[in-house]
Amino acid sequence: MKKLFIKTYGCQMNVYDSNRMAELLAPLGYGAVDGPEEADMVILNTCHIREKAAEKVYSELGRLRRMKEARQGAMTIAVAGCVAQAEGAEILARQAAVDLIVGPQSYHRLPEMIAKIARDGGHALETDFPAEDKFDALPDAGAAVGPSAFLTVQEGCDKFCSFCVVPYTRGAEYSRPVDDILAEARRLIERGAREITLLGQNVNAYRGVGPDGKTWGLDRLIRRIADSTGIARLRYTTSHPRDMTDDLIAAHRDVGALMPYLHLPVQSGSDRVLEAMNRGHTRDDYLRLVERVRAARPDIALSSDFIVGHPRETEEDFEDTMALVREVGYAQAFSFKYSARPGTPAAAARKQVAAEAKDARLQELQATLAHQQEAFAKSCAGKTMDVLFEKPGRKSGQAVGRSPYLQPVHVENAAHLIGTVASVKIAAVMPNSLKGELLRDEALAL
Ligand code: SF4
Repeated sequence: MKKLFIKTYGCQMNVYDSNRMAELLAPLGYGAVDGPEEADMVILNTCHIREKAAEKVYSELGRLRRMKEARQGAMTIAVAGCVAQAEGAEILARQAAVDLIVGPQSYHRLPEMIAKIARDGGHALETDFPAEDKFDALPDAGAAVGPSAFLTVQEGCDKFCSFCVVPYTRGAEYSRPVDDILAEARRLIERGAREITLLGQNVNAYRGVGPDGKTWGLDRLIRRIADSTGIARLRYTTSHPRDMTDDLIAAHRDVGALMPYLHLPVQSGSDRVLEAMNRGHTRDDYLRLVERVRAARPDIALSSDFIVGHPRETEEDFEDTMALVREVGYAQAFSFKYSARPGTPAAAARKQVAAEAKDARLQELQATLAHQQEAFAKSCAGKTMDVLFEKPGRKSGQAVGRSPYLQPVHVENAAHLIGTVASVKIAAVMPNSLKGELLRDEALAL
């Protein structure tokens, strides 16, 4: 067996892509290992969202180059993902130890790229947006999956938010056909999945071809998956407020498998900043949307992304963000300081916010969000909730699962329930997880 190590950066879509790359390379004799030291092939599946993403990849490549030299070149190094797409041949120019560069739309071509460099030597680079459907070209390796699985239904983005590289690295919005998604969902369930998270850069912009030849939205897709597969749990991420249709909100009311948790990024609470970000909605649009979602599913918990210090953001704009956070109340959130991504409109803006102001705003925002998250966790104490058990805990017999709100839940004497959903009473709230007790010593029949 040849040894394959994939290091995954960034979002769940990259996790999904890494799994698919591993499946793709399995027929070539590659099996996964936990580190690069022994690996015959190392793939860095990169993300361009975080600050200095490309620099971090170059520094990791420097480390890999030294390992490769120590092994007289017996290691193939590939860079995949959004940094590969954005930097392309620049990576080969800066780090000669790299053998392969493959963008997110082209990784189904990895086997032929590997064969090409084995045959001809040199490097291989694929960063086009190929005409063929990547998903059609990917094999189903049939390997076991965990109780919680990802399924990419949509890729790319047409929104062009001022700060974001995704439309440039992942390309235009594309939705997979409903039948293909259903077939993959069934395979995942056969292989052990009890929960499926539908993924897309703009997942609620999903517009796929249905079995009737018509265009289906995410709401119809969710209803069909729930009805025809009997999956215990469904989630989807990441959504844009502009694509949160009434039909999709109604699915939250009607579809029991759809978990009462919605990641709905707002980024800022200021109309001026939302406009500068090209988000295409106002603060009020977002607040009304939250009202409608909560009216449809009163037990729903919300999470969001925030960026502080976007160009032109004033103290008043930031106060608007703080006021919005207080008004909505989030169970979970991800917040970052704005940092320029080369090639995006915001990077060229003249009015950048001073670093000290960004630091102070992020600190204030994160303190409030942490407080809200803690309050939400405490509100779960004493409640009974269904937990999907995913893996063994540190203690003997213990199992760790996820609540409907994605919180980790530790339960004693529950190892036999891994891969099932069971009712749990929340006995204690820990700093980053919940402690539960089994209500019944058996899994629900799901
Ligand atoms: S909607 Fe999301 S993925 Fe698309 S440009 Fe905006 S932040 Fe990026």
